[in-house]
Amino acid sequence: MKLELCRVVQGSSRLGVLKGLGRSGQHSLEVPGCLLHTHLGTVPHLTQDTLHTLNNLPSVTQVTLSNLAEHREVLEEFKDGFRKFAGLHDTVLYCSLHDPATPCPTGYTTNKTVSVWGSGGRIELTAAKFMALQKAVQPDWYQSMADGETWQNNTSRKRVRKSVDRTLAHLDECLLLHQKSQELEGVEVFGVVEGGDILEERVRSARETAKRPVAGFCLDGLQTGSMDPALRTQLITAVSKELPEDKPRLLQGVGRPDEVLRCVEAGVDLFESFFPFQVTDRGCALCFSFNITPDPELAVLELDEEKDTVGETQQNGDFNLYDQMQMTSFEINLKDKRYQDDFRPLVEGCGCYSCKNHQRAYLHHLLVTNELLAGVLLMIHNTAHYHAFFGALREALANDKLDLLKRSVLRERVGHTEKKQ
Ligand SMILES: [Zn+2]
Repeated sequence: MKLELCRVVQGSSRLGVLKGLGRSGQHSLEVPGCLLHTHLGTVPHLTQDTLHTLNNLPSVTQVTLSNLAEHREVLEEFKDGFRKFAGLHDTVLYCSLHDPATPCPTGYTTNKTVSVWGSGGRIELTAAKFMALQKAVQPDWYQSMADGETWQNNTSRKRVRKSVDRTLAHLDECLLLHQKSQELEGVEVFGVVEGGDILEERVRSARETAKRPVAGFCLDGLQTGSMDPALRTQLITAVSKELPEDKPRLLQGVGRPDEVLRCVEAGVDLFESFFPFQVTDRGCALCFSFNITPDPELAVLELDEEKDTVGETQQNGDFNLYDQMQMTSFEINLKDKRYQDDFRPLVEGCGCYSCKNHQRAYLHHLLVTNELLAGVLLMIHNTAHYHAFFGALREALANDKLDLLKRSVLRERVGHTEKKQ
């Protein structure tokens, strides 16, 4: 894997391409970008064929050990790895520890183990078990074992320091087992940067992790709802300065478009794309504007008219992880009665299957009658809209129009706040 940067805007926003991905080295991924979010290899609601009606999908698919750990024996018996087991099209497979869309219970890490939560409950993993799982899954990249339980409010300095030390010890142990394993030859490891909300610990974690032979970095414990967005940006900026330029930085648990923009400006390259899934799950459709070419003001005005609800992150203290579950200003709620006779597509001009063939009124009808097709159609559109946003973000970076894009995406929030008062 090689990260080629085309440009770095204002010292930190990075535009480039990750090349030579996968064991064949055939794949590439543009940054800033995101991974394809899946449950057990499947984008929720979509078959592989439905999924591939969409253009410009990311070439990297994310699966999580919390889903896979309980199937270890089956995968070991199958022998050919998870990609083949799940019937995935040609893709780079990235295996992370936890599912970003499902917060897991805390208080279960020890010096020697971390725990993941599958459908059958808790599974405790030692480094040996963790690496045995990686051998059974056969990903192209995987996130190293990490103690990430420092996102809660009032985590003590001692606890944060311990999580950094443990995570480094886990990484060293995983790398040792990795190097001894033939099955994992050519597979790349992402080191995990911890440090809670303590700047010195974040910097120490980044500096130490960068000394190890890792291919990239996961920035953990900065997810939506866990801390003030300004503090998050400050920590990411500091961490970015410690990390080598030529390796990608993946931010976990952040997916809202406004937060994505801020984190790209702080130096993040990759995101997990669980956000469109959460939007789909609550019966909503992404509709925010990222079109910066014609007249962004007009586009925003039009959208402002139909904004209804918003889940804002609280500005001072009182953060909680369930902020992730609340509706945001970037979507419309199709269960709302106002859409029962709205015969427009979800988003005018969107080229996805759902917008080309169906109207809001039809989706409203599917949702109120609890038809599974509602999830399918919403997921198609939300996935297309979200990935198109990342396309627009890269285009804006290439053409020095990031400010324009930011105004287009953020003004909706400003507009909303005014309305609320
Ligand atoms: Zn659409």
